[in-house]
Amino acid sequence: MTDAEISPGDEVTTPWWDATRQRRLTVQACACGHHQHPPRAVCIRCGSADGLSQADAGEHGVVDSCTVVERPAPGHTAPYVVARVRLPSGVLLLSNVVTEHPYDVAVGDRLRLAWRPLADGRALPLFQPDRKA
Ligand SMILES: [Zn+2]
Repeated sequence: MTDAEISPGDEVTTPWWDATRQRRLTVQACACGHHQHPPRAVCIRCGSADGLSQADAGEHGVVDSCTVVERPAPGHTAPYVVARVRLPSGVLLLSNVVTEHPYDVAVGDRLRLAWRPLADGRALPLFQPDRKA
């Protein structure tokens, strides 16, 4: 994905994007206790539009599932890892694991948050293997 293909954001997603400017990964938290991502206008559990806020998602995750893509794509040099990452809140985030050893990434691996800066100051959340685990 090139920078030009990334959404500029709207009234629902702008708080999430703004947090990336400070290199903070957030998820939506509802007053009912539910956490969700991507940002939505209402909570998918209780339907409330008023109880939603952005909550820090932390700096770590765990590989829930992953695959190695062997064809290059805009912004990606093959082979690269696409992973569904489980955050501590239980939210799943589709991202990339940046590593010299893509075929070594496995379900259950601990990950550490990293960022890919965008030209406009925002950033995309990526992950790296967490070797301190
Ligand atoms: Zn809710």
